Amino acid sequence: MAAPEFQQTLGKIAGFTGTALHTGEKVTLRLHPAPVDHGIKFKRKDLQDEPTIDAKIENLKTVERATTIGEGSVRVHTVEHVLAALWAMGIDNALVEMDANEPPIGDGSAQPYVDLLRKAGVTAQEEPRKFFDVRDMMHVESKTGALLVLLPDDKFRISCTQAGPNNKFTQFLSMEVTPAGFEREIAPARTFVYYEDVEPLMEKNLIKGGSLENAIVVRGEAVLSKEPLRFPDEFVRHKILDIIGDLALVGRRIRGHVVAVKPGHGANAELARAIAREQRRRSAMSAPRAIPIGDSGLDTGEVMKILPHRYPFLMVDRIIGFEGENKITAIKSITINEPFFQGHFPGHPVMPGVMQVEAMAQVASILLFKLTKTSSRVGYFMSADQVKFRKPVFPGDTIFIHAELTRARGNRMAKTKCHCVVNDAIVSEAELMFTFLDK
Ligand SMILES: [Zn+2]
Repeated sequence: MAAPEFQQTLGKIAGFTGTALHTGEKVTLRLHPAPVDHGIKFKRKDLQDEPTIDAKIENLKTVERATTIGEGSVRVHTVEHVLAALWAMGIDNALVEMDANEPPIGDGSAQPYVDLLRKAGVTAQEEPRKFFDVRDMMHVESKTGALLVLLPDDKFRISCTQAGPNNKFTQFLSMEVTPAGFEREIAPARTFVYYEDVEPLMEKNLIKGGSLENAIVVRGEAVLSKEPLRFPDEFVRHKILDIIGDLALVGRRIRGHVVAVKPGHGANAELARAIAREQRRRSAMSAPRAIPIGDSGLDTGEVMKILPHRYPFLMVDRIIGFEGENKITAIKSITINEPFFQGHFPGHPVMPGVMQVEAMAQVASILLFKLTKTSSRVGYFMSADQVKFRKPVFPGDTIFIHAELTRARGNRMAKTKCHCVVNDAIVSEAELMFTFLDK
C-alpha cells in the first residue's frame, strides 16, 4: 500500500479577469481555500443567493463541445480546464467563485489556472485523500468512435490516441499524471476546433468570445492560430487535459490507467459515471472500519468504526489490548446513568446479566473482525452456552471483558469463550458462537 496522502487546498485566495467564451463578456474568477472533504464547488456570484454547484458527475448537464454542470436552473459551463488544473496540481478542496456562467477562456489552455495556483499556493490538510482504486478493467465506448479503457495501476496514468477526420492529425501520448508533468506537458496545450464544426456557431453568434487567441482552428490541412503550435502534438495533449478535467467530476483520486482512443467530453463523462457507480456499489458493501494489525488497543472512536452499536446499546468503552491473534480485552465503565438502572431495579440498581452477555458478544465480534480482516462479511451471534452470572455488577464498577477464540471453522463459524471481571473476580461468563455471512 502507498503511504497515506493528505488532502490539499489553496494557500490563499487568487483570481483573474478574462473573457467568457460563449457570451464574450468579462468574467472574474476567484479561487478560495475550502475545508477538508469539501471537494470542488462553483459559486455564481452574479445570481441572487449566490448558489453553489458541486463539481460532481451527478450534476453533469451537457457535454457538447464543453462540460456543463448544474443544479435546478443554475448552470456553469466549460468547467473542464479549471477542474483539470486544480485536480492535476493536487487541489482537493476549493471554491471557484465567478460572476458569470463560465470561467474565463484565457488562451484556451489550463495555463492561466496553473499560474493562478502558483499565486495562491498549496496547503496540506489533516484528512487523508479519498481514492478510487481500479480493481477490474472498465470500459466505455461511444457511437462516435471514442473508446476509453480503465485498467488497474498504482498510479494515475493516461495513454491517449487522438485522431481527426480521415485520421488526420493522429497523435499519441502516454504519461503519469503528476503536478510537475501536468504543468510542463499538458497545461499549455490549447483547445483546438475543426472549422466545419465552429462555422455554424460563429454564424449564429454562439461563441462571441471565440478567436484565434483562445483556440487553434483546423481547416483542412491548415492549422490556424495566433501563435505557433506549442508542441508538435499539442492536440493529444489537450485531449489529456480534458480527460483529467472531466474525470475530476468523480471526486476521488483515481489509481488506474486510462487508455483513451479518440476521446471526447461525452465518453469521458460516461467513464466518470461508471466509476461513480462502481464506487457507490463498493461503499454500500463495506462499513467503514480499519483494524490495526499490531497488538495495540482501540479507542471509542475506533470501536465505533467497527461496531454498528450506539448509545445506549454500545457496551464497550475501549479495547485495551489484543494478545496474539486469539485474545482480546476490553473495558466498560458502568455508571448510574446507564438507562437499564431505571427499571433494574428501582432502589436497588443491578446490571442485567443479559447486558453483560451483550458486552461479551460485542467484544468477541471485534476480535473476529480482526481475524477475518474483511469488511465484506459480518459475524452474527448464533448461540450462548454455559452462561453463568456469578456476582452482581453495580454502578461505579469497571468491567474487564475478556474474549478468546476457541474454535474456528474456516470463514464460516467461530466459537469464543468470554468472561467479565470486576475487581479481579469473575462476575459472568459464557461461550458464544458466531456465524459469518456475506453482507
Ligand atoms: Zn478542452
